Amino acid sequence: MTDIKNVQDTIEIPVLPLRGITIFPNTAIHLDAQRDFSVNAIEYAINNNKPVLLLTQIDAMVEEPKQEDFYTIGTLATVKNLIKLPNNCVRVLVDAKVRGKSHEIYPKNKMLYTQVEILESAPVKNITKKNEAEIRSLKDIYSEYFRIIGRISPDIMNKVINSNDIDLLTDTISGSLIIDYDDKQYLLETLDPKKRLTRLIKIIAEEIKLLNIEIDIQSKVKTQLDKNHKDYYLREQMKVIAEELGEDEDVKSEAAVYEEKLEQSKMPKEAKEKLQKEINRFSHLPPYSQESSVSRTYLDIVFDLPWDKSTKEKINIEKCMNVLNNDHYGLTDVKEKITEYLSAKKINPDIKSQILCLVGPPGVGKTSIVRSIAKAIGRKYQRISLGGVHDEAEIRGHRKTYVGSMPGKIISAIRSAGVNNPIILLDEIDKLASDHKGDPASALLEALDSEQNYSFNDNYIDLPFDLSNVLFITTANSTDTIPGPLLDRMEVISLSGYTRYEKFRIAKDHLIKKQYKEHKITKKQINITDSAVYTMLDFYVREAGVRNMERMIVSLIRKAEKKYLLDNNSLRIDEKNIEEYLGKKKYLFDKRYNEPQIGAAMGLAWTQAGGDTLFCEAVAVDGTGKIGATGSLGDVMKESTKIATTHIRSISSSLGIDKDFYKNKDIFIHFPDGATPKDGPSAGITIALAVTSALTGRKIRCDVAMTGEISIRGNVLPIGGLKEKSLAAHRAGIFNIIIPKDNEKDIEDIPKEIVNDFNFMPVSSFSEVLNIALLPEEKEEKKTESLVVTEFQKYKVFENKI
Ligand code: ADP
Repeated sequence: MTDIKNVQDTIEIPVLPLRGITIFPNTAIHLDAQRDFSVNAIEYAINNNKPVLLLTQIDAMVEEPKQEDFYTIGTLATVKNLIKLPNNCVRVLVDAKVRGKSHEIYPKNKMLYTQVEILESAPVKNITKKNEAEIRSLKDIYSEYFRIIGRISPDIMNKVINSNDIDLLTDTISGSLIIDYDDKQYLLETLDPKKRLTRLIKIIAEEIKLLNIEIDIQSKVKTQLDKNHKDYYLREQMKVIAEELGEDEDVKSEAAVYEEKLEQSKMPKEAKEKLQKEINRFSHLPPYSQESSVSRTYLDIVFDLPWDKSTKEKINIEKCMNVLNNDHYGLTDVKEKITEYLSAKKINPDIKSQILCLVGPPGVGKTSIVRSIAKAIGRKYQRISLGGVHDEAEIRGHRKTYVGSMPGKIISAIRSAGVNNPIILLDEIDKLASDHKGDPASALLEALDSEQNYSFNDNYIDLPFDLSNVLFITTANSTDTIPGPLLDRMEVISLSGYTRYEKFRIAKDHLIKKQYKEHKITKKQINITDSAVYTMLDFYVREAGVRNMERMIVSLIRKAEKKYLLDNNSLRIDEKNIEEYLGKKKYLFDKRYNEPQIGAAMGLAWTQAGGDTLFCEAVAVDGTGKIGATGSLGDVMKESTKIATTHIRSISSSLGIDKDFYKNKDIFIHFPDGATPKDGPSAGITIALAVTSALTGRKIRCDVAMTGEISIRGNVLPIGGLKEKSLAAHRAGIFNIIIPKDNEKDIEDIPKEIVNDFNFMPVSSFSEVLNIALLPEEKEEKKTESLVVTEFQKYKVFENKI
């Protein structure tokens, strides 16, 4: 045979095309061939003692390859040991010797021929330390690969361990790797053994990484399969045990009970069909499986729903009025509107009316009046608190596929009511929130909208439920934060705070009586006198409603009960001994100034908690014209400070204020109770008055409170919430109130029993405010004491009235 390595230039030899493999020099391997040109090439090589070029096809699927279908570098090999196999197949042993480059491939004598040029590997000179280290790491990494793969012949491994010839070592290893043939081809084409060494390390390292991931995936799949197998096995066992114990029968009989319930139920046809499927599913589930318990809970809940149960509504307007009047003092407008609403419902029960929304500060009776409505018309009552609800699923429920999932608040309320026409109070609808978990307002909208709520869809129940018979009533502290589309469907009824007298009557006629009843005591045992009630109102609670008052009464009665038991004697609680029960008085007239001050004005504010007094303090000191405003103020209030000071600049000469004050004075404005956020334009005149006082050094009357927006030209503009603000002024014992002229019409909303206590002073310009509230300079000032109504005088007046 020709000594391949001694062939010079190019020689013409047959090509033996390879599909899907690459063969490296110094490798002997068996190959099977079937295509005619391959078999011919083998026979020719054997008969003529000639080498062939083992050349890999780029695409293994090509049956009739041409020059462009081959890589250009392959190996020259001798061929021997031909064995004929069935189907014209032959098996031979090829012994690859050296790389060869094919220059041209062409068909000849029913074979493919090529002009091949022998390629020797580049000689390896100067083995550096780096090369040595690389050889070592190649051997290590290959051992690791060998360990993972476990399919490489130990002969090759031994050859590798014992060889330090980079050329031989890299070819031997490359040939043995189980990697893509194009990766192998890349190594074959790398003629420099040192480069081949580096590339090989990288390829094997990559391969090991992939193998490890593969192993990991396989082991996970195996574990899952094992677990499934185990679960299946256990379930089968449980089934057998259940059958043995007769529990299988239990499931079947449970299913039969559900079937019976389904038969009797008056739920819609569509719902029945869906439930029938669920019952079938349930009867085939293993009795102790999680799915079975989820299914059972679902069926129980759905059958528990009052599909066809409702209370018989009896609206008798006269009776309703009696119940509302007996349960609640005052609230005339509210009762009026509610009874009108109920009259419309009585005449046409199907009337599509707006949802009632009771808006007012806490403790004014919003919740309790709804409970009274339910009592008055004989409907069941349920309350859903919406404060802080931000997840749509809280309203509409979670899909039953979740473990522990439940219906939403609306369906749960219907279920607890046990009837499909309860009154549902949606409390604090203004405190709804929304976040990434969806918008609860849109779910509520669906529930409240009479056009679509006959088929409300709860995610858990997954069946349409008719809510059109439910009477929804909502409450809120303010309409500002109620989502617009919801507010559109509501009829707002406002409940403002109570006057001192109203609170007294509520406490006496309702709250104390209720607590006497609850504590099973009588007035004979513990007598809470009227003066005690007034003292509580004046010195222990400050609120628009009566919630804290109610708490105070409970705590008073508890303390009194203990004393009653210890002393074994009846008790009389009045203004003199009340501190024994309730501790030191909390509010000692701190809600007002007791004498005129420079730079201190009293405003009136309107918040979600009702009206309140609002103090404004201002100082002017030498400086450079800075204006500071503090006390948790919102943007609108900060703007008011700028408007006020600008207006004062424009009238400074008439007030005798240095016209350059905006350059040589710093003005600081502060609203005490700094932690409470404040905003709104209605403090405008209060700020302007305080600043004028600070700049002129003239005092402000302490018996005047005010509310009004100021314009830059000094006009006083109208404000909201006059009723609430007046109630707050009354509580604080201030009766002279400056109001914008345009708000004069609102005076008629103020409760009759207090309106005459006030001296309302309507103004349309800031100069009128100054005339009323800013006292003359000190030297001309008469004694101001007469303006201060003493606390004693103030309450005397009231007590005479009762
Ligand atoms: P809200 O829902 O407005 O916060 P609640 O309805 O909880 O207030 O009322 C708090 C307490 O005050 C309840 O015990 C309620 O019965 C009582 N209450 C409020 N207003 C009146 C009133 N006008 N007459 C009788 N009791 C009242």
